Amino acid sequence: MTRKIFLTTALPYANGPFHIGHIMEYIQADIWARFQRMQGHEVHFVGADDAHGAPIMLKAEAEGITPRELVARIAAGRPQYLSGFHLSFDHWHSTDSPENTQLSQAVYARLKAAGLIYVKSVEQFYDPVKGMFLADRYIKGECPNCHSKDQYGDACEVCGTVYAPTELINPHSALSGAKPELRSSDHFFFRLSDPKCVAFLKEWLDAPGRLQPQVANKAREWLSGTGDKALGDWDISRDAPYFGIPIPDAPGKYFYVWLDAPIGYLAALKSYFDSGKARMRGERRSFEEFLGAADSEQIHFIGKDIIYFHTLFWPAMLKFAGSPFKVPDHVYVHGFINVSGEKMSKSRGTGISPLRYLELGMNSEWLRYYIAAKLNGSIEDMDFNPSDFVARVNADLIGKYVNIASRAANFITRQFAGELAFAADISTLTAAAQALTASVGDAYETREYGRALREIMTFADSINQNYDAARPWVLAKDPAKVAELQQVCSRALFGFKVLSVLLAPVLPELTTRAATELFGLDVPFTWADALVPPKSIGTYQHLMQRVDPKQLDALFGAATAAAGVAKPAPAKAAARANATPAALSIDEFKRVDLRVARIVEAAVVEGSDKLLKLTLDLGTEQRTVFAGIKSAYDPAQLKGRLTVMVANLAPRKMQFGVSEGMVLAASNDAPGLFLLAPDSGALPGMRVS
Ligand SMILES: [Zn+2]
Repeated sequence: MTRKIFLTTALPYANGPFHIGHIMEYIQADIWARFQRMQGHEVHFVGADDAHGAPIMLKAEAEGITPRELVARIAAGRPQYLSGFHLSFDHWHSTDSPENTQLSQAVYARLKAAGLIYVKSVEQFYDPVKGMFLADRYIKGECPNCHSKDQYGDACEVCGTVYAPTELINPHSALSGAKPELRSSDHFFFRLSDPKCVAFLKEWLDAPGRLQPQVANKAREWLSGTGDKALGDWDISRDAPYFGIPIPDAPGKYFYVWLDAPIGYLAALKSYFDSGKARMRGERRSFEEFLGAADSEQIHFIGKDIIYFHTLFWPAMLKFAGSPFKVPDHVYVHGFINVSGEKMSKSRGTGISPLRYLELGMNSEWLRYYIAAKLNGSIEDMDFNPSDFVARVNADLIGKYVNIASRAANFITRQFAGELAFAADISTLTAAAQALTASVGDAYETREYGRALREIMTFADSINQNYDAARPWVLAKDPAKVAELQQVCSRALFGFKVLSVLLAPVLPELTTRAATELFGLDVPFTWADALVPPKSIGTYQHLMQRVDPKQLDALFGAATAAAGVAKPAPAKAAARANATPAALSIDEFKRVDLRVARIVEAAVVEGSDKLLKLTLDLGTEQRTVFAGIKSAYDPAQLKGRLTVMVANLAPRKMQFGVSEGMVLAASNDAPGLFLLAPDSGALPGMRVS
């Protein structure tokens, strides 16, 4: 039976570009979507920007633009990632849309009619200068426990104590610096603790196979909490000024962004249906008919940080909003991606920049393969390790998989005009392919991609071993062995076809080339193609390059690449532009702290062809900077000379250590790289302006 699948990933917040965590999630969901499509199932894979809330409003204000202008700029940056990493969303929308306004207000009206909404006065800090209530993260003060200064309103980053913002000593608004006042305001609440919600959620969580066991257990814990941990009702309103959807009949009140964000899944689906794209996928029903149908499945891929919203609020909202709304069939949760064992931190500037990855011309299918190899159906974190990345891609994809075709195809093309021939009985090979296809299919379905790829590579090993054992290069020299040579190569190419079909969800571009160029198909593979022995092949054309470890240096060393564009310190993140602006205001330029620095040490970095490790003296302190200037400078020549550095660049964790700034150099496409130097007389620490 054809499955009808409505599939989403979590909606990314539209205050910045995608980071590697987004890309990992999209790759996970995309592989699953492609696998389902290859089975002939109907998949409606939609995404959207999560565009509302205070952070976006404040960031836009700091940039002197409207929230809609900010969100539009972010949206304009999305396609380069989506196409760059072959992410096959059928539609991309925004929560700041008429569909979402209509659906959010409709869901709210239904919940209100069901008696699940009430109003309660809440006392909260208010910034008298900004004229707005302050979320906890916009309040700072001294920790009541360890007395560290400058701590946020919800928890101390130094001692870890969790508290209410009202417990902070000398609280101040992080927005204006003003002393906040306690004021009351009416807030709207969703009665999650209502017995009918709790009873429903118990049943929903218990449905076999709906959630991963760890996820269901976590949600059950929250649901059955007592005392301090008792399930609370949910504050779903925010006071003006707020960038969001107005609550009907409640002037000055808006839905909290977390209410309208998940409804944005449905808004994206509605927009997709209304655009006619669902019809192109063969779905004849309307949005409402599809959404409420018994045969449609609603499946969300999310990260483990948002389990609470997706396994408690979201199903309860949908359940009590009633038809055509329907509760999710599955919420599939993944862990985080760490880099070399360290938690990714956007604020400290570590991690992998997906855009940098694409700009360096690195093959996005390498990353898809590597991430898939590390993913399973659990919520464990995965680790991106640069040397492991190089080893896996080169050993598996090139060494085991692509090599089969490049070796066997040459004999077939040169000696047999592309014609394949099998011995009368290839049932052993067919049976092995059949068993593998079933097992790998099961692994993709259950998101055990690591297992799928291990089994695929084990099969590749056996094909290579059989091929080598038959010694085709010896057969090729003996005219009496021509038929045997053709059969050996044909078996290897049948094996390569099986592998290509099974790898297609992960490597859509490469395998589509294999399907069309090598196996002469008009369209990309379907799952059933795995069991059809090929009859002939076209000329083999090179399918994939090896990873050069230097590319990983470049990926992680981006910040020190000479003559780069300085990025402002993340402490000012709320005030900075994301896209490179065409023009820079003098104030923006002034935020870049350029200093004269003396190079007191310069050393080669073992394992890197590109980097030098510089110790820079700024007069008052010394900094370590990794600079991509090894090709142009002998370290000994650099010692003692003056240069110019960006002193307020966020420290960046690189493969070889932490880089605490950037030196400036000039270059273009021609060879050569030229460090900047001040005129004589300048002293270390002098500001360049
Ligand atoms: Zn503390």
